[in-house]
Amino acid sequence: MDSQQFREFGKAMVDYIANYSDTIRERKVLTSVEPGYLEKLIPGEAPQFGEKWQDVLRDVERVIMPGVTHWHSPNFHAYCPTANSFPAVVGEMLSAGIGCVGFNWEASPACTELEVMMMNWLGKLLHLPEEFLNCAGGNGGGVIQGSASESTLIALLTAKEKMVRTFKQKHPDMTENDIKGKLVAYTSDQANSSVEKAGILGSMKMRLLPADSDCILRGETLKKAIEEDRKKGLIPCYVVATLGTTGTCAFDNLEELGPICNEEDLWLHIDAAYAGSAFACPEYQHYMKGVKYATSFNFNPHKWLLVNSDCSALWVKNSKHLVDTFAVDRIYLKHKHEGVMPDYRHWQISLGRRFRALKLWFVMRIYGVEGIQKHIRTQIGLANYFEELVENDKRFEVSTKKLGLVCFRIKGKNILTEKLQQLLTERKNIYCIPCYFREKYVIRFVVCSRLTLKDDIDYAWNEICSQTAQVFEMDKN
Ligand code: PLP
Repeated sequence: MDSQQFREFGKAMVDYIANYSDTIRERKVLTSVEPGYLEKLIPGEAPQFGEKWQDVLRDVERVIMPGVTHWHSPNFHAYCPTANSFPAVVGEMLSAGIGCVGFNWEASPACTELEVMMMNWLGKLLHLPEEFLNCAGGNGGGVIQGSASESTLIALLTAKEKMVRTFKQKHPDMTENDIKGKLVAYTSDQANSSVEKAGILGSMKMRLLPADSDCILRGETLKKAIEEDRKKGLIPCYVVATLGTTGTCAFDNLEELGPICNEEDLWLHIDAAYAGSAFACPEYQHYMKGVKYATSFNFNPHKWLLVNSDCSALWVKNSKHLVDTFAVDRIYLKHKHEGVMPDYRHWQISLGRRFRALKLWFVMRIYGVEGIQKHIRTQIGLANYFEELVENDKRFEVSTKKLGLVCFRIKGKNILTEKLQQLLTERKNIYCIPCYFREKYVIRFVVCSRLTLKDDIDYAWNEICSQTAQVFEMDKN
């Protein structure tokens, strides 16, 4: 493909994406395909001779779209938002067009330096403690990871190395393997699955401590677990607190957990994957109270801050710990400016890395702080509106509401809400997923799409009401 054909193909694709976005409400949010559908639509082998881009573009509608769950449909209210905005899409395009690999400063200075600047912009936007920022004069700094899962794992591996070093100094008789076998991590039973997985991948026992009746991990619970483990000769090492749990958007009590972690010299990692974006608005920053105790902090701009995946922002107060854990040198990776700017290869799992800061730069410049705040406030306002609709209907109760998430149920036995959830999913007009709150089955309704309007909330509510009538009808028979 030459550059002229690229211009034509690229422009046609931009039109396609814009049309997709403009007409997304016309598509059912969930697909009707069966497993194996795609195998029937394309050949089993790559074509021998190159095809025309027009034919490929045509096949997007025939082959791909029938199997797409429309995460950006205003009728998508499941999981949590996944960000998508035109500035970020264009940023991705430029990143692919430049196609550099910024594993160290010299490999592409702009790639490293824009990331340093963007992580400072973002940290300031959230009002993170200065110690996390690269511009604070200390060892703090931020880096873009691929996911919150990776961030939790990286913090765990770093905490592990740090603890092994500290412990070995105090107990030179113990081998590194002895120490590693005794390390314990803690999180709540409400933490995202990725936290438990980090324990598996990092070979560290991860205790899922019971959250309280509001799904919050409390200091007393952590303290008791640490005491139990110390008595058994184990070595407490790492704590993951969640700000905005996946199920009910609960906020672990950092003001209780933080001082315990600091006294016990444990690494405190904060997973604010979804809720972190709300901290761009001053009125939601109280949810971060106690963040000063954290060793590392992570949230996903690719969830709620209009930056397309992948873009997970991780800050640490002391980046030297990352370098001590992950630095592996080779002659071909060295350069003469080492130590002046971060060499991000030491701050992550892979060696190579994409120019992801571009899309963050585009979004923050084109929306501005005001535009980003407006986006968050609009979405929370729509969730408040949905909450009001539920509250005003005697058949339902709101179990919990935080930020853009409303958990609700039909009053009475669980089976009624389970049946409602089933009907909604079968009809594919709106998409929600369930969870349990205080042992009751609830439906999670999240305002996800950037395109959602009040009319879309009304549409969802009408769908819920009509299907609830069905549920009561079925319950009678
Ligand atoms: N942490 C929380 C609180 C989440 O809600 C999620 C995803 O929904 C994750 C972590 C995982 O995020 P990622 O897919 O970026 O690993």
